[in-house]
Amino acid sequence: MKRITRHLLTAAIAVMLLPASASLAQMRPGAKTEKQYGIGLPRDMDKLIFDDKEYPEFPLKADQQAYKDIDGYRIKETLKKITAISLQSLDEGNQYWGRIAGTKADKMATEFMASEYQKLGLTIRREPYSIPEMWFPTHWEGGYKSGDKTGAFQTLFPIDGTVGTGGKTITAEAVWVGIGSNADLVGRDLKGKAVIIYSIFVPGGRSHSASDRAGLFNSDTLATKAGAAMIINVMAVPGNGQFNPEGAPEGAGAVPTMTLSQDEGFVLRDLIGSGQKVNISLKLDVETRKNVASQNVYATLPGKTDEQLFVLTHTDGFFQGAMDNASGMASGIELARHYAAMPRDQRPRTMVFVATPDHHHGETGRDLMIKNYDWSKVALLLNAEHTSQTLLYMVNADLMTSNAVSARRWFVSGSPALQGLVKKTFQDFNISIYKIPEARAGGSLGAVSPYAPSYHLIDHVIYHTTLDTPELVPAVGLGYSARAFAKIFDEANKMTMAEIRGTEKLPNPAK
Ligand SMILES: [Zn+2]
Repeated sequence: MKRITRHLLTAAIAVMLLPASASLAQMRPGAKTEKQYGIGLPRDMDKLIFDDKEYPEFPLKADQQAYKDIDGYRIKETLKKITAISLQSLDEGNQYWGRIAGTKADKMATEFMASEYQKLGLTIRREPYSIPEMWFPTHWEGGYKSGDKTGAFQTLFPIDGTVGTGGKTITAEAVWVGIGSNADLVGRDLKGKAVIIYSIFVPGGRSHSASDRAGLFNSDTLATKAGAAMIINVMAVPGNGQFNPEGAPEGAGAVPTMTLSQDEGFVLRDLIGSGQKVNISLKLDVETRKNVASQNVYATLPGKTDEQLFVLTHTDGFFQGAMDNASGMASGIELARHYAAMPRDQRPRTMVFVATPDHHHGETGRDLMIKNYDWSKVALLLNAEHTSQTLLYMVNADLMTSNAVSARRWFVSGSPALQGLVKKTFQDFNISIYKIPEARAGGSLGAVSPYAPSYHLIDHVIYHTTLDTPELVPAVGLGYSARAFAKIFDEANKMTMAEIRGTEKLPNPAK
């Protein structure tokens, strides 16, 4: 492996994922196409990606014609403008790139939402705030040495919240501990070692088997009791992706925890497996940023009454963040377009679209919104988040894509009538869902859902990774979900607030 600077490699990996569309090339002058780079993700991407038009598309039924103007292909074009903001942050040399809260790209993303809503005639209100403390990795590099063989890691990435190496480069001997369960650790001496764990998606890259989220593994135990010097999670997805999941060890005894692609991880596995001694070196600089400025954006489309339909979208995202959450942001804009085209007297309720930017960085903005908002007027809340993704499979040693839209996890609260409406509408609009809904709303909706009848569908497989690209967000899935959201709003508009809410009394912190 040639030693190339870390940034150039990150750029190479990400830029090769770019669709060769003229608009993006214009936004990022000098950007290479994927074919000009030899590495990338998924591996064999040029063979693996279906064109949007190759996904089966079910025609609208007779009673769905009112939703014809909601266009999945247009949503996808909007989505690409949002992922281009992320790519610009990569072009500008950020190793920790994407629409990261408090950065220039964050501001561009919320201002993009404000300007799109404004163009549609909505009234904009900005709510500035600051994030008290934010974990921020500023630079990292690492590699391996085995005999006279050396290599710089191309895909190394810090796990969200991990501690750094204190300004030093640390070096430790690598040990491979399988999936890192207690059974794998029996009799192993891990003190001062670079512990390599093979981590599988359960079901996605944020919740992976070597993260505490999954409940399969306890990284704190590994770090604190076994005395590891560092932990490297090899993410079990064929190819050269980068991953920024959650679940780094915290508190006393926490050690630097990084992810590495399977392709690079298997180089280490094979060296260790052939009896070679492998040393890993790592330097990771992390800072805690204080009082990081950001803003919520509220866009209002008045209706006949002051009762409200509320659309929430988080705007931050790691890497391109195509599904997470450019899909939800672009869907919000499309819904606004659909309803803004109608005369006001055809909108029984006022619509409020909220863009909030620090979902992955502490939720200060969302929590401020919860505290300041008068929830008594909100008839129904949609969280537009992760609305469409390609269904992927692992086939032997490779990744296989499909021309199917993945089933999603989902949540709905409120009256039994509302719950029935949401579930039936998903089915009517060709949306596949998990059999068992979330017991408690996840994603951005989590802390908001107690305050208003609310629902969402939310994919959670490919995100917080460089795989989260526009190519894996099918336009037809974007169209189906946005149309279903509009249908649910229209049917809910035939119900009174009491009929939507049911009998449960909801709290309202603003009153
Ligand atoms: Zn998200």
